[in-house]
Amino acid sequence: MQYIDDNATLYGGVAQQIWDWAEVGYLETQSSNLLQQQLSNAGFEITTGVAGIPTAFVASWSAGTGGPTVGILAEYDALPGITQDRNPLRDAIDHKAAGHACGHHLFGTGSVAAAIATRMWMQESGQIGEIRLYGTPAEEGGAGKVYMVRDGLFDDVDVVLHWHPSDSNSADARSSLANKSAKFRFTGLSAHAAGAPHRGRSALDGVEAMNHMVNLMREHVPMETRIHYVITSGGAAPNVVPDFSEVYYYVRHPDPAQVNEIFDRVVQTAEGAALGTDTEVEFEVIHGIYNVLPNISLQEVIHSNLTRVGGVEYRPKKDSLLRPCVRHCLPMLLE
Ligand SMILES: [Zn+2]
Repeated sequence: MQYIDDNATLYGGVAQQIWDWAEVGYLETQSSNLLQQQLSNAGFEITTGVAGIPTAFVASWSAGTGGPTVGILAEYDALPGITQDRNPLRDAIDHKAAGHACGHHLFGTGSVAAAIATRMWMQESGQIGEIRLYGTPAEEGGAGKVYMVRDGLFDDVDVVLHWHPSDSNSADARSSLANKSAKFRFTGLSAHAAGAPHRGRSALDGVEAMNHMVNLMREHVPMETRIHYVITSGGAAPNVVPDFSEVYYYVRHPDPAQVNEIFDRVVQTAEGAALGTDTEVEFEVIHGIYNVLPNISLQEVIHSNLTRVGGVEYRPKKDSLLRPCVRHCLPMLLE
């Protein structure tokens, strides 16, 4: 804890730098390098480009033989399409295409700081074992960890710890939703929408028919199901029958078996939509992940340690928040 306090400025700077870069999934080159640099400075051995992903890495430090191997996950990817300047009210940065909305700049940096602090504690206390930090790209869609698991990178680990920035300092045994996603791509026949509409087959019709069927399906799936979509390509001009259209789906449920079942029904709506609109459809699975499988014993240990550290204290909202000028108000909010 002393090490973390003494180096708060250093790690604050690292987090701020990653926040400024705001690199999206699988393209987190600078962010990944900066975190690797901290770990290598602290004597960790780094293996980079693991699981065939240029921005994934494993950093390890060990003492003695026969001790436990403890993994810590670090995420550092940003969210596309969202930016925000450093103040508490909505203030988008015009030139930025991505941003750290949920705080993966803190996630990556905090995990690296924890790994280094633990390594120092191990050295001082004579604790044997291995501390291993996993640099895991593309959490915001893309599921980088799945490929790392598939490559066996976690096979010899006793336990893996992760965390996420939040508004309180606590650990609970909450799970998450299993999730499977896919992009459904419809192809049709282009034609002039006024001059020769009968010659066209609209790929967008395929997408709309599919979405309609999925929306009807919502009544007939288990309560906890979540299905969301965005149309990522819907044509370019109203007077051109679109010959290509794409819709991107997520299917979620607490139980992975249910996710697979519901996902297959979503695929059937795509096939039905293609048949009915005389278009063709194919789909690409983008990712599939289990829900988090919590460990109650570890949750209790971590929670009691987090309680010792303390956390954020909230005070009643000040009237000054309601004033329109953010920069003028900020100094008052920070009092
Ligand atoms: Zn997040």
